[in-house]
Amino acid sequence: MIHPETWLKVQPQGLFCEPGGFFIDPLCAVDRAVVTHAHSDHARPGHRAVLASADTLALMRARLGEDRAGETQQALGWGETLRINDVEVCLRPAGHVLGSAQVVMAYGSARVVVSGDYKRAPDPTCVGFEPVACDVFVSEATFALPVFVHPAPKAEIHRLLNSVALFPERTHVVGCYALGKCQRLITLLRQAGWDRPIWVHGALAGMCAVYETCGVALGELRPATGAAKRELAGAIVLAPPGALADRWARRLADPVVGMASGWMRVRQRARSRGVELPLVISDHADWNELNATLDEVGAPEVWVTHGREEALIHAAARRGIRGRALRLVGYGEEDQGAEVEAVGA
Ligand SMILES: [Zn+2]
Ligand SMILES: [Zn+2]
Repeated sequence: MIHPETWLKVQPQGLFCEPGGFFIDPLCAVDRAVVTHAHSDHARPGHRAVLASADTLALMRARLGEDRAGETQQALGWGETLRINDVEVCLRPAGHVLGSAQVVMAYGSARVVVSGDYKRAPDPTCVGFEPVACDVFVSEATFALPVFVHPAPKAEIHRLLNSVALFPERTHVVGCYALGKCQRLITLLRQAGWDRPIWVHGALAGMCAVYETCGVALGELRPATGAAKRELAGAIVLAPPGALADRWARRLADPVVGMASGWMRVRQRARSRGVELPLVISDHADWNELNATLDEVGAPEVWVTHGREEALIHAAARRGIRGRALRLVGYGEEDQGAEVEAVGA
C-alpha cells in the first residue's frame, strides 16, 4: 500500500490529492476541485473544474451564480467511478444536506474516504450516510465531545408544536440555516402533521426552491416578508439566525424565538442569543455517531479536519485507531458571517 500520507496532503488551499491533481473542498479558487457539499465553507466560487453530485452542483449554481460555480461542472452519480489521472474517485452519500457526498479515493491499493460533513440520523431531505470500509477515514469533529448527544429530532419538533399549541396567538420564529436545516425543519414539521403554510424569510426561499426542483416536497411555503402581523399570529416562521434580532423581526406577533442547531445543547449559547426555545437539531454527527462511524468504516487511521479533534483522537486511540489532526482552517462557518457561525451547525 502506498501510504495516503505520501499522496493526500494538506496545502494552504486545502486537502490536495497529488496523483489526481485535485483539491477536495478547496478554500480558494483552484484548477480542479471535488466538492463534498454546497455549504459555503466547502463550496467556494471560481474553480475551473468542479466534480460533485448533481444536487450539489444545482445548489452551487443557485448560491454562487451560474458563472462562479465552476467553469466546467461534472456530476458524478452515487457509486459511479471516475478515473482522474491515477486515482479512482467515487461519491457516496454523507447524509448531511441535499447532495452531500463522501469522496472515496483509491490509489496505490489504499482507499481513503473524505467524509466532508456528515450525520447518521435519518433526514428525509437527503440520502443517508453510507459507511465505506477504508484505510484512512477523514472526519470532521464539530461535536466531538461526550456532552454532545443530539436528541431525536422528532422530539424537538414536538416541543415546538407543543409551544405553538400553548401560545396560539404568538408567532413561533425559528432561526436556521438557509441550506439544509431549513428544509429539514419543514419536512420534520410535515411528518409531524403540520400541514398549514410555513412562512419563510426571503433569504431562505431560494434554497427551498432548489430542494423542490430536486424532488424534495416542502408543502405550502409563504413569504414572511411583507406578511401582516395578524396573519403571522399562531404561525411558524423560519428565518436565518441573523434576522431574529433584526428590525425584520418586528413584524412578528409577540414572537417565541427558537433556534435549530446542535449548539443549542449549550444552554449558555441559547440564553446569550435570547433564544427561548432552543431546538437541538443538528446536521452534524454527535459524539456517539462519530465514534460509531469510526468503528463501522474500520479504518486503522482517522484524520480529523476541524472541530474538537483532541477528544475524538483520544477516543480513537483507546480503540487502537491512529488519529491525526489536520487542523484545516476555514471550515465550520456554514453560512456567511461570524454571527451565524456562533450558532452554526
Ligand atoms: Zn456542511
Ligand atoms: Zn462544514
